[in-house]
Amino acid sequence: MRSQTVPPVATTELYRELHDHVRDIILVIDADTGRIVEANRAAEQAYLYSRDELLALAIYDLRLETPPSVTDQMRSADRQGSLFETLHRRKDGSVFPVEVSSRGETLDDSRYLLSIIRDITERKRAEEERERLLITTQQALATREEFLWVASHELRTPLTIVSLQLHQLRRSIDRGDTTDRLTASTEAALSHIERLSALVQRLLDASLLEKGPRLDVAEIDLAEVAHNAVERVRAQTEAFGIEISVEVPVVRGLWDAVRLEQVLINLLSNALKYGLRQPISVSARVDADLVHIEVRDRGIGLAASETDRIFGKFERAVSTAHYGGLGLGLYISRQIVEAHRGWIEVESAPGRGSTFRVTLPLGSPAGRDQSAS
Ligand code: ADP
Repeated sequence: MRSQTVPPVATTELYRELHDHVRDIILVIDADTGRIVEANRAAEQAYLYSRDELLALAIYDLRLETPPSVTDQMRSADRQGSLFETLHRRKDGSVFPVEVSSRGETLDDSRYLLSIIRDITERKRAEEERERLLITTQQALATREEFLWVASHELRTPLTIVSLQLHQLRRSIDRGDTTDRLTASTEAALSHIERLSALVQRLLDASLLEKGPRLDVAEIDLAEVAHNAVERVRAQTEAFGIEISVEVPVVRGLWDAVRLEQVLINLLSNALKYGLRQPISVSARVDADLVHIEVRDRGIGLAASETDRIFGKFERAVSTAHYGGLGLGLYISRQIVEAHRGWIEVESAPGRGSTFRVTLPLGSPAGRDQSAS
């Protein structure tokens, strides 16, 4: 039987063709000197050197980090081969991550390292993206968990109080108490019910406003909105003896009065809550086609790192142990202000108080009257 053999030169040619077909980089390295003695086409494409240029280099010229020396690698690779990740450098100085799979071979008393090198830029990017997503998801879950805890706590407190008051009311009725007492207990229960429904409203708002609030726009006067908002928190400011000053000129603009009042009430409630019972001021000034409205307190203030975050959903910069709250007031306010094509920001420093500034376009260039109210 005749066996068909391929001449050795042709074999070499075929192997070279094969190497040039492979997408991974193939380098044959002299284990004693580290010099590159063979490189395929993928190597030329990856390192941006011609084959001749590569053959004039040592593997150390392509590496960025101090890697295991070729001799060490040779030793560990001799038997089972080695697999590691490192960084390689292209001719233009740019760097890319690679996975190197090496084996040592001895041929005619010379030792070689056969390396198959894979560009893992895409894999690394996908890993980083997965990692980033995981962290974001974990953070979102932690925020949500804390939110649920705070929300149930916030809702439970007025519920418990209302329930206690209703029990008391029933006892008062059984005892035949005076109408005055019955009225007082009923009023107290009603005020807690109001608080409860405000909380529920806030939760609803947060989910409804996510798609962008629908505005009911009409030409309105900012001074009136500001005075109405201040009236809404009047009971609180009086109960705690907190001074509140309002300097808002008559400014007409195309806005949603109810929503704008909601923004101001949110900012005022925060100024009361975080304002250490110090005076609060509300002011506004017109600048060309914009109006800047400021709510200023002299309370606990905020660290610079918090000033953007607090406008996010459920975001808070205080511990639940010290201050209750859902972390939704500023989020809702931002949605409303942005729906008016405006913006909201805060200037603050810890212990120095905070100034929340809402900037709104007037919407109607002619509709402006700046006489002070
Ligand atoms: P809540 O007050 O219910 O936590 P907000 O969305 O209204 O939610 O506020 C988010 C966070 O911003 C608060 O938890 C608080 O840390 C911070 N913050 C808001 N207003 C002020 C303020 N006037 N002074 C200091 N910190 C404030």
